[in-house]
Amino acid sequence: MQIIFEKSVPERHGVSLPCSDVPARHTVAEKYRRKTDAALCELSELDVVRHFTALSRRNYGVDTNFYPLGSCTMKYNPKITEKIAGLTGFSALHPLLPQLRRGGMLTQGALAVLYELEQLLCEILGMDAFTVHPLAGAHGELTGMMLIAAYHRDKGNRKTEILIPDEAHGTNPSSAAIAGFSVRSVPTDPDTGVLDTNTLEAMIGEQTAGIMMTNPNTLGLFNPQIARIAELAHRYDAQLYYDGANLNAILGKFRPGDADFDIVHVNLHKTFATPHGGGGPGAGPVGVRKHLEPFLPVSRITKRTDNTYALNYDFPKSIGYIAPFYGNFAVCLKAYAYILMLGGKGLIEASENAVLNANYVMHSLKNDYHIPYLKTCMHECVVSAKNQMKHGIHAIDIAKALIDRGFHPPTVYFPLIIKETMMIEPTETESKETLDAFIIAMKEIAAAAKETPDALHAAPQTTPVGRLDETKAAKDMDVNFTG
Ligand SMILES: *Cc1c(COP(=O)(O)O)cnc(C)c1O
Repeated sequence: MQIIFEKSVPERHGVSLPCSDVPARHTVAEKYRRKTDAALCELSELDVVRHFTALSRRNYGVDTNFYPLGSCTMKYNPKITEKIAGLTGFSALHPLLPQLRRGGMLTQGALAVLYELEQLLCEILGMDAFTVHPLAGAHGELTGMMLIAAYHRDKGNRKTEILIPDEAHGTNPSSAAIAGFSVRSVPTDPDTGVLDTNTLEAMIGEQTAGIMMTNPNTLGLFNPQIARIAELAHRYDAQLYYDGANLNAILGKFRPGDADFDIVHVNLHKTFATPHGGGGPGAGPVGVRKHLEPFLPVSRITKRTDNTYALNYDFPKSIGYIAPFYGNFAVCLKAYAYILMLGGKGLIEASENAVLNANYVMHSLKNDYHIPYLKTCMHECVVSAKNQMKHGIHAIDIAKALIDRGFHPPTVYFPLIIKETMMIEPTETESKETLDAFIIAMKEIAAAAKETPDALHAAPQTTPVGRLDETKAAKDMDVNFTG
């Protein structure tokens, strides 16, 4: 496909309007004015519309197809929440509008949304206070690490280290390191697939500022020793952090606050159905227990006795601003609408379906693929290409072959602790028909691995560009391909 500039034809016009009869009046000084016309492409309106429509049809997303990307929850984003976020009462608000007095009540509705979202998240996660300011999951983690640092600084604790299981999402160690901590990786027990308490006990000490956990972890397994882990952490005043990016497994079933976690972050753009991907806006609210509340970022929303809301900046121990204004407001609004739409019962049902779907996929594939931990999984399951390796087929070949069959590949080669991993998260929003079609495609690929492995090495063949050298593609980008 040609890029739009290559389609340009000199003198072709998109619109033909009569020349303006108003004399030109320049406000830019002569020396700054361009001497020649900008090198824009010259095309008809139809050329442009067709060009971009053709490009848009090459997009792949949850609105077009199944997207089983493990540890990323790419689920259906209800359009009704988009509609709510588009209401002019919200979308036309300026973040600097006065809160109350002189500006009348213009911003009270928006403040109520943020306040009530904080309250709902407190209830869902069992925490005492929330901030919705962080702009992504990783940003929530960084905020959480800054809170841990502020807490220990305030108490005069000299603690330098964060312990993180080796299956954790890569953002965990990065966030801890950016906040100034050194990071030690705790090995996962290969037999159980979860963090082992004895290993943790051998590593924890006075130097430990916190422990970052994901539970269920990135293998989709829930750690049953969580009470002992919390007890160990608190013996050393280490803060227990819960990476709640993907809560699909636990809504209404398990609350991190009840298990003595001190801090949690949530990805609204995963669990609470706000769109994400391609670097689009996200939100990573952070919840804390009472003892960490004084350190939360400003501003904070308070409810006055007359039931109006105010932005409050008077928190002397606060870590300060972590984002401009009040977070990604439209993302928070969509998540708020989604939570109210589902209600308590609906959220529980969402989790039950997410877990059921993941177990259905895992058990349907167990005769074709190696399952490293064949026991009940939570919202995602891990499958490996170990059986296919004897035919020279790797996880990457299976991922590419899925593209030819109309599916987005699952997450591959993560978590790092399993060889040839494929981490599949079907989510609660997919129908049995969709899951069955995916399972059939995976089974076909397993059969092809035995019979026609060369065909799999050549995949994908249905895309404008075939298999790329991914390192070269990133370092030596050539967007001017033909095809
Ligand atoms: C997605 C994810 C993150 C990071 O969230 P971003 O919004 O992408 O920064 C952290 N931890 C886990 C387990 C995740 O799945």
